[in-house]
Amino acid sequence: MKHRARKRFGQNFLTDETVISRIIDAIAPRPDDTIIEIGPGQAALTKHLVAAGCRVHALEIDRDLAAGLAGLLGHPPNLQVHPCDALEADFAAITGGDVYRLAGNLPYNISTPILFHILEQAVRPADIHVMLQREVVQRIVADPGSRVFGRLSVMVQNLCRATPLFDISPESFTPAPRVDSTLLRLQPHAQPLAEAPPLALDRVVRAAFARRRKTLRNSLSPLMDEASIRAAGIDPGLRAEQLSIEAFDRLARQLADPRN
Ligand code: SAM
Repeated sequence: MKHRARKRFGQNFLTDETVISRIIDAIAPRPDDTIIEIGPGQAALTKHLVAAGCRVHALEIDRDLAAGLAGLLGHPPNLQVHPCDALEADFAAITGGDVYRLAGNLPYNISTPILFHILEQAVRPADIHVMLQREVVQRIVADPGSRVFGRLSVMVQNLCRATPLFDISPESFTPAPRVDSTLLRLQPHAQPLAEAPPLALDRVVRAAFARRRKTLRNSLSPLMDEASIRAAGIDPGLRAEQLSIEAFDRLARQLADPRN
């Protein structure tokens, strides 16, 4: 039966086989890979991952699509469909502790929370290939000083090396989204770049970018005074978008220091 795309689940299905092949080439699936795919939809990517011999765990929130997925591909033994909300999924529980890779053409309406959910997993993926709104990818890979450098840039780059691979135009999907898309590769670092406790880093980065036009002296005032900012070696007259990850790390370590 023909499926009607559900807007509330951000359903834009990939239909351009050339683009699908380019994405699969970028992922380069190998037979011994375990792959978690978020939002398999109508199997545009799933069919290739399964054909490559990967063990695929497909997480799909739409119960109709989830119910039809395995049948669509002839019930392959290396496909396991999980009808669930990826935002609530525990990936280590799904993979049974195996090393795993992650892929998906993510629903744009919740792409940022899904990214954070992926990066906050107790066991992070070996690598991540996700299709996102182009503007979100630009924010993720932005450098300090850029207009779009923000919390997302700091938090993702702290944990991963981020590489935009190529753009995909709206006509490659049915229905066509209103925005351009980009395939993004994330390769988690062995250790986060920042040494500060993650919670302290999160607090500093959130506060600094919540009022990004203000100087740190103002934006960080709920957390630390001017003297503490100076003690971290940072000029309190700077603004959040001028700071490197290393500078945020110094502020967060100062915030977490029990002597303060
Ligand atoms: N992978 C397919 C493709 O490329 O054609 C579908 C991509 S579509 C942009 C996003 C898919 O994610 C849809 O199948 C949608 O139902 C599913 N989805 C949306 N929110 C989800 C969630 N929270 N957890 C799991 N799947 C979700």
